[in-house]
Amino acid sequence: MVEDKYRLSRHFMATEFRCRCGKCELSNPDEILVRINPILIDKLEMVREFIQVPMMITSGARCTEKQISIYKQRYGEYWADYTRWDSKHLVNKSGKFEACDIICKYNLWDVAMISARIGFNGIIWYQKQTLESLVDDCLHIDVAERLFFDRRIRPRR
Ligand SMILES: [Zn+2]
Ligand SMILES: [Zn+2]
Repeated sequence: MVEDKYRLSRHFMATEFRCRCGKCELSNPDEILVRINPILIDKLEMVREFIQVPMMITSGARCTEKQISIYKQRYGEYWADYTRWDSKHLVNKSGKFEACDIICKYNLWDVAMISARIGFNGIIWYQKQTLESLVDDCLHIDVAERLFFDRRIRPRR
């Protein structure tokens, strides 16, 4: 077997985490090798080993342009109200991105709970509107360290 330099773990390749804009630095899998937080891969592989079902990465690293286009698609004219600039898909101050969105043929609730147990810090369940109803879209999971505050508290930095 030829050793692939883009292999990150048993089931995941750097190419799967490329920015989908196809134009920025992060669209290059060589850049993904440097920019991905290795803890993300370790934990993702643990989820994959647990469920024993193929997982598809629908979004990994993102540049600013891609971040905006995703939120425009998701929230239409209200995109600016929803776009997250602290998204863990964006490269952080330490030069790493720490999130991915996944889909798989496995109960999404169960995948979310397994991810929580394995130690993902941020888990967001996304749905999308079809003509008939809201349907599951993807599960966002990230390993960024964070703290949520009561909205009345102004965090000291
Ligand atoms: Zn991009
Ligand atoms: Zn996400």
